[in-house]
Amino acid sequence: MESTNNIFFILILTFFIIYSIRYFGIFGFLDVLFLNREKIWKLKNFFSKHFHYFNQLSEKDKERFIYRAYKLSKLINIIGRQDFVITPEVRLFVVAAQVQLTLGFKQYELNKFHTILVYPDVYKNKITGNMHYGEVNPKGVIVLSWKRLVNGFEIPDDKINLGLHEMAHALMHTIISSNDHEYGLDPYLRDIVRLSQLEMDKIKNDDHHFFRKYAGTNIYEFFSVAVEYFFEVPGEFKKELPELYQFMVSLLKQNPV
Ligand SMILES: [Zn+2]
Repeated sequence: MESTNNIFFILILTFFIIYSIRYFGIFGFLDVLFLNREKIWKLKNFFSKHFHYFNQLSEKDKERFIYRAYKLSKLINIIGRQDFVITPEVRLFVVAAQVQLTLGFKQYELNKFHTILVYPDVYKNKITGNMHYGEVNPKGVIVLSWKRLVNGFEIPDDKINLGLHEMAHALMHTIISSNDHEYGLDPYLRDIVRLSQLEMDKIKNDDHHFFRKYAGTNIYEFFSVAVEYFFEVPGEFKKELPELYQFMVSLLKQNPV
């Protein structure tokens, strides 16, 4: 009986190791395996220093945040543009918005979004010729301006957060285009889209609408702006647009108020 148990244990262990190596690569696997207390402590210090959102989390959620950020910083291909140097610190900043946005989910990877390009500041889009701070290509590439990204987290309540804005685009693309719909998020997103259509008309006709004008551009921008407000001014959001706020809570499976 005991030997059957041992074989079972070895099989489980082997499966776990093979799965982890496939998932992280051999070096990533070893790295995550040896994510020791000292490293966790350093990461915790880093996030508490720079992220207002992180400081408001429970101890359990803080650990979840740290672990996920560390894993994503190893998994995502982060490339500097215009000689911008990608340091370990930059990596953590770049993945933080994704971790924040998806902290309530079991699956926090956004299927095909595995590449993030980072420019030092505003950059020119080669196709449109326009200047941008960030954008999301539905084929799986996210582009960010470093300066704007950091600014977004430095001022946590000005309703502007580039990282969250672009990640919200990536999340929306992921929900719409996933075949498996693992998240089961479609009904919540549909509720938000339905409400956004009514709200966008109001934004166009009302200069004092709670959301900034840009949210009236289309449903994609509406959703991204809603995400920025959701995390930066949740109390006001809940008071001004209670129904929409509730749909956002159901979708993101977290309630920042
Ligand atoms: Zn946008």
